[in-house]
Amino acid sequence: MSTSTSTEKITEVGHNRFGFDSRIEVDTLRSLYLTPSYIKSGDKTTHVGAPHKDYGTESVYDKDSNKIQYTTFAKFPPVRLLPNSERKRILVTGGAGFVGSHLVDRLMLLGHEVTVLDNFFTGSRTTVSHWVGHPNFEMVRHDVVEPFLIEVDQIYHLACPASPPHYQYNAVKTIKTSFMGTLNMLGLAKRTKARFLITSTSEVYGDPEEHPQREDYWGHVNCIGPRACYDEGKRVAETLTYGYQRQDGVDVRVARIFNTFGPRMNPYDGRVVSNFILQALKGEDMTVYGDGSQTRSFQYVHDLVDGLILLMNGPETRPVNIGNGHEFTILEFAEAVRDIVEDIQKEQGVANPKRVNIIHKELPTNDPQRRRPDTTRAKETLEWQPRWAVRQGVEEMVRYYQSQIAQGNI
Ligand code: NAD
Ligand code: UDP
Ligand code: UDP
Repeated sequence: MSTSTSTEKITEVGHNRFGFDSRIEVDTLRSLYLTPSYIKSGDKTTHVGAPHKDYGTESVYDKDSNKIQYTTFAKFPPVRLLPNSERKRILVTGGAGFVGSHLVDRLMLLGHEVTVLDNFFTGSRTTVSHWVGHPNFEMVRHDVVEPFLIEVDQIYHLACPASPPHYQYNAVKTIKTSFMGTLNMLGLAKRTKARFLITSTSEVYGDPEEHPQREDYWGHVNCIGPRACYDEGKRVAETLTYGYQRQDGVDVRVARIFNTFGPRMNPYDGRVVSNFILQALKGEDMTVYGDGSQTRSFQYVHDLVDGLILLMNGPETRPVNIGNGHEFTILEFAEAVRDIVEDIQKEQGVANPKRVNIIHKELPTNDPQRRRPDTTRAKETLEWQPRWAVRQGVEEMVRYYQSQIAQGNI
């Protein structure tokens, strides 16, 4: 299957719609995850990552002593100056995670006041550390299972581990986070009259019997299997959300997110995109679970952030699928990632001596066989469609992981 559905060079993301302007240059976002880095070995210093900027963080990694020096007091990236009437106080739970950190970058650059609430279970302070100290930014270590008081206008509720190894690590905690965490954030939305958006998941459809999945499909979930803590947790979180809407008039939004990837994905979270890219980069065997005939469709994180912001600020209150419709079998996807990584390595003159192998491992229990979103509702109500081809996103992520490897972080 071709990975180059679009060759359009994307220089700007976001939209100016529903009275909320979310447009930002891609290069500005890139400068926040591909920071300039220098690697010292003896007398030699090499530069990796992004070109030097007169703002943002830098690091110098000394290979010989295995020490890293961070420079964090540089200028902050310029953020939009909004009038008070347009500047919103926004809470992002799970804001130190993969998706959350990209949402935080966007909201900060747009000029809003952002509070990140996170317990750092799967997220890391480093994903948003470039904003620490900024007058519009606050980071709070807190577990959403406990009540939380703050005054805000919008709540993006993302806090929840999302990769199968992470959410299965402590299944009871995952259910508590989904239920009690969502209850607390809805209680907060009710008290402050803030608009509340929850990041639900395609997992609410389980191992689907309808294909592609539309929002009015009720799903096919095993309520006692190993994935149930997450799937049923998100289902009950949606139930709570609409309960608060009906009973208390809370203004709610529900995003059902399909597989998403991009820079800052935890390299050890065991998800397929991070596994495949790292295996291909390091010249290790690529692990396809089962025969690889199961399918997924992968969306790039900037498309997701566009969709979340449109949903939050638009009028649609029913659940909305946000995902990319380009469906791959996992085996096709492994081959595509291997090709992309090889192309980049050739271009850089650092090809692995031999082609990496694709090997097969046991298929996890209850692994969904097919998954592809029907995004008609997002198109009709938000005028949203994915723009990033998988190849463009994977290339971006390869460069990010390469710089993380060079800095000794992976
Ligand atoms: P992630 O694991 O990178 O981020 C989750 C964040 O929530 C982390 O920073 C973690 O530390 C924090 N967190 C977890 N439990 C918490 C708790 N009890 N209290 C406070 N913070 C807590 O995952 P992600 O991929 O960024 O996912 C973000 C959201 O999007 C999740 O709600 C996930 O279910 C949803 N989602 C993601 C995908 C995807 O493909 N990435 C797909 C569907 C849905
Ligand atoms: N809650 C919170 N912050 C707030 C308001 C409520 O964390 O600003 C929590 C509260 O502790 C409760 C939950 O949200 O556990 C649900 O609140 P709600 O007011 O709906 O329920 P009640 O407190 O009446 O049970
Ligand atoms: N998978 C794989 N190799 C890996 C990791 C995952 O073949 O190293 C498969 C997994 O069995 C599933 C698909 O890739 O069919 C997507 O897995 P992921 O954990 O990324 O997300 P899921 O959609 O299952 O939540």
